[in-house]
Amino acid sequence: MRPADFTLSAGPNDIPPQTRAALGSPILYHYDPAFIERFRVAEERIAAIYGTSSHEIILMQGEAVLGLEAAARAVVRPGMACLNLVSGVFGKSFGYWLTAIGADLREIEVPYDEAIDADAVAAYLDAHPEVEMVAVVHSETPSGTLNPVRELGPICRSRGVVTIVDCVSSFGGVELRPEEWQLDLLVAGPQKCLGGPPGMSLMAVSDEAWVLIGRNPAAPRGSFLSLLDWKEQWHGAGKFPFTPSVSDLHGVDAAARLLLEGGLDESIARHARVAAACRVGVVAMGLSIWPARDEIAAPCVTAVRVPDGLTDLRIRDHVRARYGVQFSGGQGAGPIIRIGHMGLSARPMYPIVGLAALGRGLLDLGVQADVGAGVAAALASLADSADAAEAPLAAAGLGA
Ligand SMILES: *Cc1c(COP(=O)(O)O)cnc(C)c1O
Repeated sequence: MRPADFTLSAGPNDIPPQTRAALGSPILYHYDPAFIERFRVAEERIAAIYGTSSHEIILMQGEAVLGLEAAARAVVRPGMACLNLVSGVFGKSFGYWLTAIGADLREIEVPYDEAIDADAVAAYLDAHPEVEMVAVVHSETPSGTLNPVRELGPICRSRGVVTIVDCVSSFGGVELRPEEWQLDLLVAGPQKCLGGPPGMSLMAVSDEAWVLIGRNPAAPRGSFLSLLDWKEQWHGAGKFPFTPSVSDLHGVDAAARLLLEGGLDESIARHARVAAACRVGVVAMGLSIWPARDEIAAPCVTAVRVPDGLTDLRIRDHVRARYGVQFSGGQGAGPIIRIGHMGLSARPMYPIVGLAALGRGLLDLGVQADVGAGVAAALASLADSADAAEAPLAAAGLGA
């Protein structure tokens, strides 16, 4: 089977040619000074995208799920009271790790088309001062929703509670300020809004998080999952705990460089603009958006409610086979089909392709959809956005 003509999935998606080329860079010995320099530069770029100078950056070698499990194991000891905030599939599965580690698990759970209420978290922490850690997903990709981490950070910090934030699909595409928002241990991945290859975990760790990790006798050491090994051996003594993924590092570095050249703010604005246009198009076509409110819709993906009588798989298979466009399903979050806006696919004409393929595919399958109205509305939204006139290539960091 040949690859899709347009990948509009929830990641990984296609990446810019410069990043693809960087993945083919020479394989260097990991203690070649040129590689060490590249590794340090990549760390600085990731810190710049996190917008922090006070967190320590750890680049772990393995898809972001590795970083998330490493974060949980570093912080949590058996019996520790942890509050897990669940508004979707990734939040729920983080709780399974916490349980496996033996945490005293508490959860605040909301329907998967909703977002966590910060006031409810503050009230819970006031009533349960034994809680030491709060876990939250910034952008719940399977349901296309955002959680208010900006409010949650200060609520937790002021109560001495450390936060673990899954920002895998918000990093580089949604405003996120760990330093200002007082968030502690953040885990991102390159294969979403950064527009890079899957295969690494991009982490930022606050002093507060290191203190808690340092007090945890169960925190892994001498392990592929160990954050402490990276801190002590790499940041402390300039020795890699093991050979890093040389090609992946080149890819991540190139993706971060391109994003920063185009401008972080511009990347965030572009994801917002494109996702807003897509949502407008979905509604104009006569379909429904999955998130309960527009304010909580994530910019990295548009989650569309699957029309009655169909399944996301049926639609995805049909659209992929007939029109060469690849979407994602809801990954168990509900009857959802997702159009991704990540990195390259967060450029203006991609949602138009997505809307056209989805709408026409639904018509083929017997569902009423006004494809023309949807496409026209999305185009009008793109044309109206204040800076839509800017060269899209430059905005995507491809003009350099
Ligand atoms: C993509 C993603 C991850 C990584 O999970 P995979 O299933 O391996 O892609 C983790 N958290 C969130 C919120 C994600 O979007």
